Amino acid sequence: MNPKVLKLVLVSTPIGFLGSGKGGGVELTVISAIRGLLQLGIEITLVAPKGSELPPDCKRVKIVFVEGTDQVSWQHRDFLSPVEIPFNSVLEGLWKHALVLGKDADAILNFSYDWLPFWITPFVDVKIFHLVSMGAVSTVMRKVINDLSIQYHERLAFHTKVQSSDYTLSSFPTLLGNGFDLTKYHFREQSIGYLGWAGRVSPEKGLEDALSVARRLGESLYVWGLVEDQKYAKKIESLFPEGTIHWRGFLETSEFQLELGGARMLINTPKWNEAYGNVVVEAMACGVPVVSYQKGGPGELICSGSTGWLVPKDDLEALYSATLRINEINRRDCRNWVEENASLESFGTKIKSWIFMEK
Ligand code: UDP
Repeated sequence: MNPKVLKLVLVSTPIGFLGSGKGGGVELTVISAIRGLLQLGIEITLVAPKGSELPPDCKRVKIVFVEGTDQVSWQHRDFLSPVEIPFNSVLEGLWKHALVLGKDADAILNFSYDWLPFWITPFVDVKIFHLVSMGAVSTVMRKVINDLSIQYHERLAFHTKVQSSDYTLSSFPTLLGNGFDLTKYHFREQSIGYLGWAGRVSPEKGLEDALSVARRLGESLYVWGLVEDQKYAKKIESLFPEGTIHWRGFLETSEFQLELGGARMLINTPKWNEAYGNVVVEAMACGVPVVSYQKGGPGELICSGSTGWLVPKDDLEALYSATLRINEINRRDCRNWVEENASLESFGTKIKSWIFMEK
């Protein structure tokens, strides 16, 4: 008898289509999860906003496209904001389809950090699992996740321990880390020499701190990523001498890793409890050491003294001093860490064990 084929419905973020950059790191996480699960022979249907694209190696995935208005990211709302679902919301459409498709699948895996999917979980027969993509950035979201943990703790997973510590959970959390297709990131033994920074250009990412360090070093800073907050970008640009920022734009992964790999170091400057920090691991995958604050996910991803340097949060002086010690880091150790801790294979296996309760 043939073994039963396991089937999952994956639900993408309701903030932008896959490939838009608006969803931030979740976009890459969805694709990594798909790649990891496909390798394990799991059948996948993806429900995603219209316009979403998957890479050619994910062709076997059936995609159901949904049109509608984006959600506003919780991280750009006040901590006490109520739940808001716009008219003709894409979130509503994603879940209308997912709940029907889920009846013919073993489970639904949710990637959206939104109230609705968490709230409905105890009330539907379909099993919904959630990979929580942010720390607690709102009281409503914190409560709905805390409440779910009381009844259905096993349906929740997080990227890092520090991210999960934002919530009051009924038991030890499932931690999945993240996964990267390492065939897509090329290790560079030698840097070209420039300084790098990557991420959404938005206040919680602290680009101004990296620019202060770059100015002190008398260098310009290569910046990759989506300018999410134009006003903020203009403001910080005006604070530094012309040429301090070298805008590189939002690049597709193959181009991004090519430029990133030439950096002498990545300066990472989170101002919030970053759930993971994809760009930190992508840099290390290319052999680029990372200097960052001991805050959020990056504090768990960087081994200070081995794959980069961690300094106390918001300590600009320490950040600057750490950049002067970057040549003490062996670029090969950075790549090795990623191979050992954040491969696609291990990510897929962890997701499968979590959802299908394999020991
Ligand atoms: N990114 C990209 N092209 C760029 C710069 C960044 O595709 O030019 C992606 C990067 O691969 C990463 C995401 O942007 O997956 C940023 O995710 P991260 O986890 O670092 O932060 P988030 O945006 O989720 O807060």
